Amino acid sequence: MLKYLISISILFFINCTASPNGHPPKNIILFIGDGMGLSQITALKTVSGNSNLDRFKNIGLLTTHSANNYVTDSAAGATALATGYKTNNKAISLSPENKPLKTVLEYAHEKGKATGLVATSGINHATPAAFIAHIDLRYKYNEIARQITGSNVDVLFGGRLGNFLPQSNDSSLREDNLDLIATLARKMNVVYTAEEFKNVKPGTTLAYLYSYQSPKKAGFRPVSLKEMTQKAIEILSKNENGFFLMVEGSQIDWGGHKNDANYIISEIVEFDQAIGTGLDFAASNKETLVIVTADHETGGFSLLDGSVKDKTITETAFTTTHHSGTMVPLFSFGPQSELFTGIRDNTFVGKKLISFVK
Ligand code: MG
Ligand code: ZN
Repeated sequence: MLKYLISISILFFINCTASPNGHPPKNIILFIGDGMGLSQITALKTVSGNSNLDRFKNIGLLTTHSANNYVTDSAAGATALATGYKTNNKAISLSPENKPLKTVLEYAHEKGKATGLVATSGINHATPAAFIAHIDLRYKYNEIARQITGSNVDVLFGGRLGNFLPQSNDSSLREDNLDLIATLARKMNVVYTAEEFKNVKPGTTLAYLYSYQSPKKAGFRPVSLKEMTQKAIEILSKNENGFFLMVEGSQIDWGGHKNDANYIISEIVEFDQAIGTGLDFAASNKETLVIVTADHETGGFSLLDGSVKDKTITETAFTTTHHSGTMVPLFSFGPQSELFTGIRDNTFVGKKLISFVK
């Protein structure tokens, strides 16, 4: 009898740890390292010793090809993560048949959850855009800005303010006189400077558009990605129904395109610090799923020499100035994180996340 009871308890314990109460997570934080492949992650690990990625227990790999190309671009890559569907390169959450694909952010909003997008690129750049806009060409920045303004997102931190300003403004990047900032300011708290951002009393919405054009490199941006992530969580976690937040380390990709190892490393180090903030929140909150992944690898980046002891990388190589088709890492923490393991396709992430907020 005792033996029987012990086996039952062990089974019960295994069940509990395998899937904590089986409920979908209340909150989701999706970190996307644009262009972040295994060499980029190895570089982070080498220069930092212990990275925040070391805190994850559930790890997998994602295949990334798009509907029309073996090598994806960021638009199709983010569409797969946001909607669970493949599309053609350059398309933003629009199917190859030109049908709008509903995103996890849009589903979350419908469920009464708070939603947010944080990026170190323009907020209307391909990766954040795929969570909120639907358009055939990622480079239509003005139209994407218009669609973002018409959406119901609660937190928007990123660059390219110029696409939101009317042509009459000297810093405008628009070709019309739509004043999207005025429209945005009617429904959201909007700030522009680091000082305003740091001093703002967190309400339930905040747009922080911190550069007229694309943001500068890590260390030269007015506020760090970690501080932006912290503020986004502070605002979104006020919603009793939970939240969905996407945080992008946008410029890991830009370092890859430039074949600049130092650029990649400084961006991924900053991205890792933001991940730490998300993990700290999830560890105390216990109802938050944190996912870290990438849309694709950039540069065909390779590490050829360095020193673990000295935390340095001394020789690197690149095989392309574009993206590569190599699989990307997938890290997860929190409720349901055990599902995000093994070798999966990038559409799996979008499909699963949508199933949690639908
Ligand atoms: Mg991007
Ligand atoms: Zn790229």
